[in-house]
Amino acid sequence: MINLEVPRKFAQLVDQAHQAAAEFFRPNSRKYDQAEHTYPKELDMLAALLDGLSAAGGGAGAGGVRRGGTEKKADGNRNGSNLQLLLGTIEMCWGDVGLLLSMPRQGLGNAAIASVANDEQLKRYEGKWAAMAITEPDTGSDSGAIRTTAVRDGDYYVLNGEKIFVTSGERADCVVVWATLDRSLGKAAIKSFVVDRDTPGFELVRLEHKLGIRASDTAHFRLDNVRVHKDNLLGSPEINTEQGFAGVMQTFDNTRPLVAAMAIGVARASLEETRRLLEEAGVDIDYDRPAFTQSAAAATYLQLEADWEAAYLLALEAAWMADNRKPNSLQASMAKAKAGRSGSDITLRCVELAGSVGYGEGTLLEKWARDSKILDIFEGTQQIQQLIVARRLLGKSSSELK
Ligand SMILES: Cc1cc2nc3c(=O)[nH]c(=O)nc-3n(C[C@H](O)[C@H](O)[C@H](O)COP(=O)(O)OP(=O)(O)OC[C@H]3O[C@@H](n4cnc5c(N)ncnc54)[C@H](O)[C@@H]3O)c2cc1C
Repeated sequence: MINLEVPRKFAQLVDQAHQAAAEFFRPNSRKYDQAEHTYPKELDMLAALLDGLSAAGGGAGAGGVRRGGTEKKADGNRNGSNLQLLLGTIEMCWGDVGLLLSMPRQGLGNAAIASVANDEQLKRYEGKWAAMAITEPDTGSDSGAIRTTAVRDGDYYVLNGEKIFVTSGERADCVVVWATLDRSLGKAAIKSFVVDRDTPGFELVRLEHKLGIRASDTAHFRLDNVRVHKDNLLGSPEINTEQGFAGVMQTFDNTRPLVAAMAIGVARASLEETRRLLEEAGVDIDYDRPAFTQSAAAATYLQLEADWEAAYLLALEAAWMADNRKPNSLQASMAKAKAGRSGSDITLRCVELAGSVGYGEGTLLEKWARDSKILDIFEGTQQIQQLIVARRLLGKSSSELK
């Protein structure tokens, strides 16, 4: 049975992540929101600290996802690295989600490598910062329809295509690029390749200007005859039409709970700040009285908190299942859908509750409302998560329920 208490062994990590968020992220939040595309140099010191923590068995970023089961305990409940990362990510995003996404060596590409790479590749890419490139000008939600091609040429693959909206694409050491070995064979032919940023033909076209997470760079690439060694293909080069998309989709089972954690962290920041402002304004929030007997502001606040709690519990469940090697695609999508939507709703309602104070730049409430929207879009939109949940519950395939 799932145990909802935060395991005692993670208390120190949660505390450290919170401290880092309070001391490194919060003070730089507004600065890098305004200085879009400027690398937050303060992160280098924090990244070095986190590397030290990781070496000692800790660490708190998106890139440190591990397949469940590295812990020694053979049976019973296992609270492992997925739950640990989830809790760390919540704390860090309480500080600033854009800055967390800018942390060296903590990219979504690192999560992909951790999920599908073989042992030799895991070792080779250790310490590298990896971004993730799936989206193309003609393909977003329908990632199975990507057009970037990979053609075998001796010991190399030659990649051609275009990739857009690549988080940390400019700053990362390498990018995990999804490409198809043979479009006629459908999703099963899609493989991921690690492409070093300085590979000839891998051209940065531009960086995007955005509504939120402006501290994080978002890159557009063109791949023009990019040659990557065959050993850079993650997982198996075989095209297994039985397995279909399963290989690459495994990544999402690990990363979606983390994106949910990001939304949960930002939403908690908004709730805390709003509560402070409400109390300052003399609004009393009473947990011993029904919401409908309290002021409209207090009742709204209680409702938002309940929504937050539901998202939090779903995310814990998804990470716990990954740690215990239980298939968690359904729970990962449920957590992402709930937290993505709640994150956006809560942060925007907090702006509303704080009125003009919430809308101005005197607090971070307006920024958090902007930052949270992306968490309901990337790694699969709200609608796509709902589609996945529906397919799982109804036992339908992707061709039966589109
Ligand atoms: C800031 C930012 C960072 C990003 N980072 C990355 C990254 O690092 N790597 C990467 O590969 N991509 C990244 N993305 C891309 C992101 O994952 C896509 O934007 C997302 O998957 C949606 O794709 P799309 O924008 O093409 O929208 P579309 O797929 O065109 O969807 C448009 C709308 O239609 C809805 N929709 C689509 N299909 C269905 C359906 N079958 N049923 C119901 N509704 C549907 C969608 O939910 C959405 O509301 C990033 C995007 C942004 C904005």
